Amino acid sequence: MKKTIIALDGHSSCGKSSTAKRVAKKLGYAFIDTGAMYRAVSLYFYDNHVTLTNPHEVEKALSEIRITFHFNENRGASDVFLNGLNVEDEIRKMYISQMVSEVSAITIVRKAMVAQQQKMAKHRGVVMDGRDIGTKVFPDAEIKVFMTADPTIRAERRQRELLEKGEMVDLNVILENIKKRDVIDSTREEGPLTKTKDAVLMDTSFMTLDEQVDFVVQLHDSVLAKR
Ligand code: C5P
Repeated sequence: MKKTIIALDGHSSCGKSSTAKRVAKKLGYAFIDTGAMYRAVSLYFYDNHVTLTNPHEVEKALSEIRITFHFNENRGASDVFLNGLNVEDEIRKMYISQMVSEVSAITIVRKAMVAQQQKMAKHRGVVMDGRDIGTKVFPDAEIKVFMTADPTIRAERRQRELLEKGEMVDLNVILENIKKRDVIDSTREEGPLTKTKDAVLMDTSFMTLDEQVDFVVQLHDSVLAKR
């Protein structure tokens, strides 16, 4: 069977992971949530009081971090593990969202994660979502989608998600966090978020999740049919 790499990049909270997870299921591909990896690193830095501006501390911490994914039948996706501990719920909390963009802007953090992501996708069909998948991790990916949506709509979606997990966060706090992450993610030196010419734009502001999934699957099928 033909398999390929689907790179889903885009702004925070516009449905990348939800779309990627379902596309992967439909196509029988692996789904890799690279944001979860940066979030896990952030959690480790937080728990171990790593000074982000101290390269020695950052390097030492990175050498102590082992990130793995294990499939969770209930969620229908992989949970992320940090040094053997399931941190899937913890990394979604607001305090991690508030530090993750600073952590992921550190060049040695990015280099370590990108190298791991490249290894994870070898020889299999993969849907990978993040910020630099189509630019840095897999610049030759056959299918690249750049996702975006109106910031207020994204904040409302994120608020609902957090509420479902029992965390009530003010909409403005979420909106500010989303905007701040967009700026840091798009302007950093290493692997900034940017839409490449060969990426197809998908604005999810007024799309249902089913429509988003169909869009990516159709793009995948049409690209593979032309091979
Ligand atoms: O996708 P998610 O919102 O969980 O990602 C959290 C953060 O991780 C992003 O705001 C970004 O700073 C960082 N990230 C990144 N590169 C990726 C994936 C995520 O810098 N490939």
